[in-house]
Amino acid sequence: MAGRQPVLLRLVACALAIAATDSAAAASAPPDAAAPAGAWHQREAAIMGTRIAVELWSRTPAEGEAAIDAVMEEMHRVDALMSHYKPESQLSRINAHAAAGPVRVDRELFDLIARSLDFSRLTGGAFDITYASVGYLYDYRHHVKPDEAQIEAHLPSVDWRSLELDPKSSTVRFMKPGMRIDLGGFAKGYAVDRSIELLKARGIEHASVSAGGDTRILGDRFGRPWIVGIRHPDDPKRVILRIPLENIALSTSGDYERYFDENGVRYHHIIDPRTGHSASKVRSATIIGPTATQTDGLSKTAFVVGPEKALEILARIPDIDAVFVGPDGKVYYSPGLAPPTR
Ligand code: ADP
Ligand code: MG
Repeated sequence: MAGRQPVLLRLVACALAIAATDSAAAASAPPDAAAPAGAWHQREAAIMGTRIAVELWSRTPAEGEAAIDAVMEEMHRVDALMSHYKPESQLSRINAHAAAGPVRVDRELFDLIARSLDFSRLTGGAFDITYASVGYLYDYRHHVKPDEAQIEAHLPSVDWRSLELDPKSSTVRFMKPGMRIDLGGFAKGYAVDRSIELLKARGIEHASVSAGGDTRILGDRFGRPWIVGIRHPDDPKRVILRIPLENIALSTSGDYERYFDENGVRYHHIIDPRTGHSASKVRSATIIGPTATQTDGLSKTAFVVGPEKALEILARIPDIDAVFVGPDGKVYYSPGLAPPTR
């Protein structure tokens, strides 16, 4: 909103100035002269099938380590609630029983499922947690994909409008047989947001929390922004853009995260709910916005509807910016991030 936009514009000028450089370490080195007594603390862990990275400033090491412990615990908690790999998770119970009748779930999970429907509405169905009705037939690690007959048989069950939610009883019901849901499209963003809330409650004012491609940033680095790089889709070491950020979230989705190539086709983990095939209208999409739940949920849109239509959709949502890399390497920016034309 009004408070954020000037910051973003200022940051963008800076992003463009340094986009071509490759000195990540130098760019993100903390100018601690302006900092009060205390120190940066950081840790990485493998949770939710991804790399979790936390960096924060605290007055004492004990306070910093305890805050990082709390974040890691929260990541495990969200994972246990939503994982479809764990048969005992509430999500797995929904998938096993919701076609037969309403399944009661914790309010937190209920609210998230309800929230997913908001993203479905906003994106014209590009974001659809029932994509899993077909999505479960893919196994990227083992190069398994459904054939056309399987897709045709399962595609009618991909339909967010057939998810029946009853807020009074906190129940979820599938109105079509063969439906499945998967919250992987925004679970990491949600876990990152929860983590930032936990840190704030502990009095932490400067932090960055990432779960794979989903990052949220709290505060600045004492007078300087945090620098977040967007990688090239084909080369993890090449950075196409560095964006300086403060108090904001950023998610990048790419077709290079979980995939296999066969006969010149890339099969990857973002599925077009209309076709049941991998959605390939962009190679990568980065969304910048107030919360990581939002940026994560919106980062699938351009893959499904293409960059131009995605920019139209995103322009209707307050405080959202985007950078897409098209199949031919062309980079698309939302108006708030576009480089000035000469
Ligand atoms: P990550 O899982 O690393 O955060 P993304 O943010 O790109 O990666 O999200 C990809 C995940 O989104 C997939 O693994 C899957 O769980 C989920 N997903 C795939 N297609 C859709 C879709 N059309 N709508 C909602 N979620 C999707
Ligand atoms: Mg994500």
